[in-house]
Amino acid sequence: MNQILLTADRLWDGVGGPTMQRPVVRIADHMIERVDSSLLPPATCSGERVDFPGCTILPGLIDTHVHLVMSAQATNEAIIAQVTTETEAQLLARIEANAQAALRAGLTTIRDCGGTKNHVQQVRDRIRRGDIIGPDILACGGPITTTRGHCHWLGLIANTCDEVERTAQRMLAEDVDFLKVMATGGNMTASSDPMQAQYDASSLRCIADVGRRANKHAAAHVLSRVALPDVVAANYRTIEHCDWRVEEYRYEFDPELARKIVDQNQYVGLTMSGLARRAFLPDVKTFDIAPVKRLDLRFACERRMIDFGIRYTIHSDAGVRLCPIDQFALGLRAAELELKLTPGEILRAVTATAAEAIGLFDRGVLQAGKRADLIVVEGDPLRDLRCLEKVRAVMKAGVWCNR
Ligand SMILES: [Zn+2]
Repeated sequence: MNQILLTADRLWDGVGGPTMQRPVVRIADHMIERVDSSLLPPATCSGERVDFPGCTILPGLIDTHVHLVMSAQATNEAIIAQVTTETEAQLLARIEANAQAALRAGLTTIRDCGGTKNHVQQVRDRIRRGDIIGPDILACGGPITTTRGHCHWLGLIANTCDEVERTAQRMLAEDVDFLKVMATGGNMTASSDPMQAQYDASSLRCIADVGRRANKHAAAHVLSRVALPDVVAANYRTIEHCDWRVEEYRYEFDPELARKIVDQNQYVGLTMSGLARRAFLPDVKTFDIAPVKRLDLRFACERRMIDFGIRYTIHSDAGVRLCPIDQFALGLRAAELELKLTPGEILRAVTATAAEAIGLFDRGVLQAGKRADLIVVEGDPLRDLRCLEKVRAVMKAGVWCNR
């Protein structure tokens, strides 16, 4: 049996309790066997012993919304040109490089919310087989969208109810882990309108039902409130962005709808992508575009969701403009500043809560019986999130990926 004994100055277990001092973590094969607090490490350990002085052990981070196929350039046009002109070999190489960069940044699990063809699944499978190193990936293939709809250039088009059903089934046949739909238009695609719903209630329900019958969850992109009642009624597992916007500069939070989201155990994904990091990216302030101008309204509405008790994850949407996948920590610092969350609340959203949201109950917390996905960072990230930028070691399923 492969045994590892880890010690460090501190451990935070993902559940949100206080930081444990002088932890001792025993790992056997792929699992966490025990977590103890002890001033003296136990005398018996036949395997490897590793101490990380000055460091904190945390669950591996989970980003529930990335786009591995995208290049995070400064404009939407440049990213769309990149995705639509690169060869298959280039796209696969980009997906692989992004996945590995994510792992080095402490992300042991990522959920890809839309790429080209089955390319993300191909890289996911190479990682699963052990051919290459990388984080665990959940893939949706492409996002289901309309002819001129949001991200139509990723190529997964379905307009009618019949087409939507066939497309969702085709994605399952292509071995996706979950289904994704663009319920409204999006900022990235000029021919789409974020204020308009792209599908009616029955099409949205159809996708979620096709997923449920195959035991797969579904995610819906929602950039305005028009589609929200239907996405809630169809009980999508995750609501990406979950924007309550009713007019360009007006948000309307609805406690009754929010109550349903809570009661149905749905999760919202709060997006701390490039533009939301305005405090750290001075250039963003000069962008004369609506999404930047309404950020204060958006953040206030997100704070209402949090105060209401809606379960939330924090994701990067990495790959979109100005949002490289290895800068996850910067998005978390933006969440601390803009949403007035504590580091503990933020870390929980990207570990334990994120794992629950995407249905991976074997990870996200450091407890006996869970998979040994963990990271070691310098300093104490519960006091200063910048410590997440100093990743000393990454372990996935009991195996060092980066140390
Ligand atoms: Zn996205």
